[in-house]
Amino acid sequence: MTENSPPIQPASGPSFDRLPLAPAILATLKQLGYDSMTPIQAASLPITLDGHDLIAQAKTGSGKTAAFALPLLTRLNPRRFAVQAMVLCPTRELADQVTQEIRRLARFIDNIKIVTLCGGATMRPQMASLEHGAHIVVGTPGRIMDHIERESLDLSALNTLVLDEADRMLDMGFYDQIAWVAKQCPRQRQTLLFSATYPEGIAKLARQFLNQPQEVKLTEQHASHKIRQRFYEVTREQRLEAVAALLKHYRPESTLAFCNTKQQCRDLLDLLHAQGFHALTLNGDLEQRERDQVLIQFANRSCSVLVATDVAARGLDIAQLEAVINVDVTPDPEIHVHRVGRTGRADQEGWAFTLSSPTELHRVETIAKMMDIAPEWHELSELNTDAAKLIPPMVTLQILGGRKEKIRAGDVLGALTGEAGFTREQIGKINVTEWNTYVAVTRNIAREAVKRLSAGKVKGKSVKVRALE
Ligand code: ADP
Ligand code: MG
Repeated sequence: MTENSPPIQPASGPSFDRLPLAPAILATLKQLGYDSMTPIQAASLPITLDGHDLIAQAKTGSGKTAAFALPLLTRLNPRRFAVQAMVLCPTRELADQVTQEIRRLARFIDNIKIVTLCGGATMRPQMASLEHGAHIVVGTPGRIMDHIERESLDLSALNTLVLDEADRMLDMGFYDQIAWVAKQCPRQRQTLLFSATYPEGIAKLARQFLNQPQEVKLTEQHASHKIRQRFYEVTREQRLEAVAALLKHYRPESTLAFCNTKQQCRDLLDLLHAQGFHALTLNGDLEQRERDQVLIQFANRSCSVLVATDVAARGLDIAQLEAVINVDVTPDPEIHVHRVGRTGRADQEGWAFTLSSPTELHRVETIAKMMDIAPEWHELSELNTDAAKLIPPMVTLQILGGRKEKIRAGDVLGALTGEAGFTREQIGKINVTEWNTYVAVTRNIAREAVKRLSAGKVKGKSVKVRALE
């Protein structure tokens, strides 16, 4: 494994010029302002351009797309009208992003056709695009399977298979689909696997579908100025109470609280509920529908705290997370880095609090060494716990009826802002799932909104509505 600690700032990283890339590609990179390689690109491109299979582990935003797009574009023959490369992604949004990035990088190569194949969209236009000849396909495993089965996608000329965000695809239960699709690809091919984490399923995938892969791993380092880390020493008895104290004092709108065990999650949830916090938990026992409900409420700001183990939180993608609390110190420093990396994303600052018992202090030392920080210790007694209750700004309303009833977000917004008389500002995120629709509304109108929605109509029909509280 190549271990590349502090990430090289793109400006000071190695130049693309040293790679065996076509002049057109080098010119594109220059035009895009890609002056130098990111660490994952510098570590993986020499390997992939040399034709080897690869397992690459690096965090989000590290430039993984170009790391696999450049080798596949290099090998591509634009004059051959056949699918030569395929990228599997977990979601439609990610597939769209990857498609856009490949398009940008392929700008100077004549007439390259890239087709995105995801569920949720109708098959026919996708089939038509494929019929007109695509060089590259990007899509989600289920939909790609559909196309292979209907013989609208021919993979006989494929030379590169990419599994992007492989850990998330596994979290979403795509193992069997990925395996099935990989088996339909020619044996003689290059396979590249990209992942932010390295759970057991990845090793299994790699053993089955990669050929003597080389591994590149970049330990995560986050811009530490964006994450303010504080450590608190606690006794066993103080630990859960300390979580409540942190929440009351810092008042983050959304907090992810990590526990090492499921039991700890249950205990913490009980304590938070007893104190009037709006807290939810994620665990493996939840059905998909329940899991969706929890995530929707957390993401639309009607739940203040999400309590989870590392396993349950895997693959979560929540943009606005003001705080992460390590209720327990994890024995694995990489997991700690991954946990705290969930806050302070994009341009936002985030808090990362860690509660450590005296027996866990050695773990904090290891973490500090790895992150190259001097841990900032604070006292629980500094926390102001007299503050008012922490209440999320929104409430989620559940409407029975979803995609199956052809309900769209616009219908719900229309019902609330039309007949029911609320303003656009009082309505938050709207999520339509197969059977249910969830709409966040500001807390002050929740009760009235339930009443008026129940009395009125959505898409011409009366609906059952309740507040999730
Ligand atoms: P990841 O897949 O690792 O999350 P992306 O491939 O989406 O990351 O890249 C993140 C962003 O960085 C994109 O906006 C991309 O255009 C940009 N980027 C990638 N490589 C470089 C580079 N060498 N120099 C400058 N920007 C880059
Ligand atoms: Mg990516």
